[in-house]
Amino acid sequence: MDKYDVLKKYYGYQDFRKGQEILIDSMLKGQDVLGIMPTGAGKSICYQIPALLMPGVTLVISPLISLMKDQVQALNQAGIHAAYINSSLSEFQISKALRLAVTGRYKIIYVAPERLETYEFLQFAKQTKISMLTVDEAHCISQWGQDFRPSYLKIVQFIRQLEERPVISAFTATATENVKEDIVCVLGLRTPRVLVTGFDRKNLYFAVETPQRKEGYVTNYIREHEADSGIIYCATRKNVDKLYDQLQQKNVAVTRYHAGLSGEERKQNQEDFIYDNKLVMIATNAFGMGIDKSNVRYVIHYNMPQSMENYYQEAGRAGRDGERAECILLYSPQDVMINRFLIENKEQNNGYTQEENTAIRERDEERLRTMTYYCMTTGCLREYILRYFDERGDKSCGNCINCIREFEETDVTEAAGKIITCIREVRQRYGINVIAGMLAGEDRAKLREYGVMAYPSYGSLHELNEGEIKQIINQLLTEKLLTTTGDKYALLQVTGLADEIIDGKRNVILKRMKKTGEDRNERSSRQKKNSSKTRNSDILNSRGLELFERLRKLRAKIAGEEGLPPYIIFSDRTLVDMCIKVPVSKEEMLRVSGVGENKYERYGERFMEAVREYTGGIHEKFFFGEMIDFAEDRVISEKKTEFSLTEEQAEQFPYADRYLLTELAEKLNELRDAVRMKKISGAEIFRKLQDEECVSEMFQKGMRKKIISEKGLEAGLFLDLRRSKKGTEYEDLYCDRKAQRKILDMIRRN
Ligand code: ADP
Ligand code: ZN
Repeated sequence: MDKYDVLKKYYGYQDFRKGQEILIDSMLKGQDVLGIMPTGAGKSICYQIPALLMPGVTLVISPLISLMKDQVQALNQAGIHAAYINSSLSEFQISKALRLAVTGRYKIIYVAPERLETYEFLQFAKQTKISMLTVDEAHCISQWGQDFRPSYLKIVQFIRQLEERPVISAFTATATENVKEDIVCVLGLRTPRVLVTGFDRKNLYFAVETPQRKEGYVTNYIREHEADSGIIYCATRKNVDKLYDQLQQKNVAVTRYHAGLSGEERKQNQEDFIYDNKLVMIATNAFGMGIDKSNVRYVIHYNMPQSMENYYQEAGRAGRDGERAECILLYSPQDVMINRFLIENKEQNNGYTQEENTAIRERDEERLRTMTYYCMTTGCLREYILRYFDERGDKSCGNCINCIREFEETDVTEAAGKIITCIREVRQRYGINVIAGMLAGEDRAKLREYGVMAYPSYGSLHELNEGEIKQIINQLLTEKLLTTTGDKYALLQVTGLADEIIDGKRNVILKRMKKTGEDRNERSSRQKKNSSKTRNSDILNSRGLELFERLRKLRAKIAGEEGLPPYIIFSDRTLVDMCIKVPVSKEEMLRVSGVGENKYERYGERFMEAVREYTGGIHEKFFFGEMIDFAEDRVISEKKTEFSLTEEQAEQFPYADRYLLTELAEKLNELRDAVRMKKISGAEIFRKLQDEECVSEMFQKGMRKKIISEKGLEAGLFLDLRRSKKGTEYEDLYCDRKAQRKILDMIRRN
């Protein structure tokens, strides 16, 4: 058997994902590896497949007891002999497992790091050929990280005591340089193959919402997704309990988890969630480490978390099966205060010096600020996340709220100039609240106390309110024209870039959500539907969805009979693939992604029976559009192609008397295949027109002015007045029918 046979036979998958193959080959060659992959990328297969192909046993060190159980259950389901050894077993059970292990019964043994130094375990290790030692959650070995576990250092001593050094493979989702170096160094990896796969999780939809009443938002959301499983994270235990009570009173089936509950209740609630008895979990961040539930369809943050690291890790618990899932952060300015309070009252670690503790606090403050900007940015959220993790994303992913929501752009260069002048006047001694209040000309006791009325800038932006001024300041912070001091006062500072504004070389555009009569949630969910066809209800037609529901019920029934979490039997993704392939024979069933031989033996017949019963054995088409082959991961992993138009699409274009370029872009985007193709923007069309020398741009008093050339006028471009939300009029570029044709032609040509 080779690695492909193993993948097909035990896991039922056709192909490896990016990176998996490279790591597997290295391990099989006897090379150490370090795999850095985000949650859900498929780390387990990376070490499990070599483990099956190597002659001896593979030990997997994992800090998470619940995860071990889950993994071992999943392996056993797939027909692979595996066991775990940790404190949840009695001494008697441990001895028994080790006795069996010596006889070569298990290929893979999960073990908690504390176990490694026990006499019994060492005896076993010395009698057995250990081909590989895999360290899961390897960042726990680094003192730099937040999750340092001293017991991880025992791994090093353990390896030293073995007669023959096994191949060592380490895996983590934490990618910072320090942590990476620590892992290689402390574990003593020998010329390891280090592989960092992209952090992007394409199946996750990201959004930041600012509802008036968060509780109402959550209740609605849960009701609208009543068949889905989700997690709601709150900042404090008190919040968890409150939300839990409120939802219970509304008869929503929820459970909860935080460190203030008894161990017994936590265990019970966690199981209720994992086994889909209760679909919704409300929890503090104490919940989730080691939860491998693959069918979590949404993660809502009721409060803003303290850092992007935390956010991405927690949000990343959604959609591990690769199916579409949503990550929504409910932001309110109060969250910043709660978090600042938590940071300030965090227990200082006595092992550190005063200076080190100050450094840690400053780092925490900085992280909190970066998190806050995430909540306020109007740019692509995915791009923001990837940039934070030192990766480059597309400017527009098409699968986050900012990429699909309608914005209007306002030029705020003039106001930006006034803000910069003001900060300089007060010699950079105040934070955002004082500066905004001062510019708006507020008359508060605090402001009087500081004597800000005496400065020329006082009231120089009185036509705006404080909230609007803060929005502009935030935009300046995002563009790095301003920064703040690293302490808790966060005094606003002007950077070197700011002169570009004063000198009229740069302008600042503020993107704001368009306000329409339509309810925002309604609108964004409608847009979401248009934007991406990767949720079940978009892939499957109504007959298909009904079959999916039937298969899901069957899965729940089997799960109940066998005492297993449903997702261990088959993932949601596998069920969707069944609805697409409609398998009624063994051969067809084995072609479904996620159905290996062992699973087929156990459950294949029952699922085929359900399919037969529903379809009468006729191959009906239960999905929209063309065939989507999950085995190839096509829908989620394919890179989107640049915007283009076919002739037929161009013919469908709704020509009108006049369009702004942004409106034109919007109409064009409606014609495209949103799953495979990137959007085109008004700015891109403008650039194309520039290339054709139809238009040019000029900067006047820091304002951008669009100018139409002879050629452009000829082509049907014209300037006309447009009224901004605030009621001021300004000129913008329009195109008539003729120009619209020309632009479509231009796009079709390249
Ligand atoms: P991680 O440990 O990196 O968070 P997992 O190992 O739990 O991720 O894998 C996440 C999901 O992806 C699992 O449901 C797994 O079965 C699935 N998966 C892994 N590799 C493949 C593959 N090559 N093809 C299809 N699905 C895969
Ligand atoms: Zn985006």
